[in-house]
Amino acid sequence: MALKNFHSPRNQSAEDNLGCNEYLNLAKTPMTYDFNNIFAKIIRGEIQAKKIYEDENILAFHDISKAAPTHALVIPKGAFKNFPDFVANETPEKISNFFKKVSEIATLLAADKSGFRLISNIGSDAHQTVPHFHVHILAGKKMGPLISSDNQLR
Ligand code: 5GP
Repeated sequence: MALKNFHSPRNQSAEDNLGCNEYLNLAKTPMTYDFNNIFAKIIRGEIQAKKIYEDENILAFHDISKAAPTHALVIPKGAFKNFPDFVANETPEKISNFFKKVSEIATLLAADKSGFRLISNIGSDAHQTVPHFHVHILAGKKMGPLISSDNQLR
């Protein structure tokens, strides 16, 4: 199983010194990261995705169920379950590089021409359905209000 691009700095030494299965078992408990989530499988190449951009740290691909004419997902290749996990546990350099790449990918998709929306859902209230940190890039239509029910609160 390819784990070489699938690291977390928290367990870098463990990853270096253990076999894949041992590392996965070790990593599951402290990180509560599900290595069988769909994006982990896409990173490992076990499930196909329409890729937009890939390097050793980042993967961008088209969402399988578009919510807008342009709907891309950008993910780090490390084992981070959500945004707080990513910013707390990834290196500053990789965090910075990730968000620069999100911007570059939006430009690559021409999403910056007439505006786009970035979304990162965290947890159940936000309806996060895949427990691997990701940013949605949505563009190509008038997006409407911030969230569907926001008129009820303003
Ligand atoms: P969330 O609801 O967690 O913020 O977003 C997860 C996104 O992943 C959804 O927009 C969903 O359509 C997308 N998604 C789920 N499974 C797959 C898949 O197998 N391939 C791709 N490309 N996108 C997926």
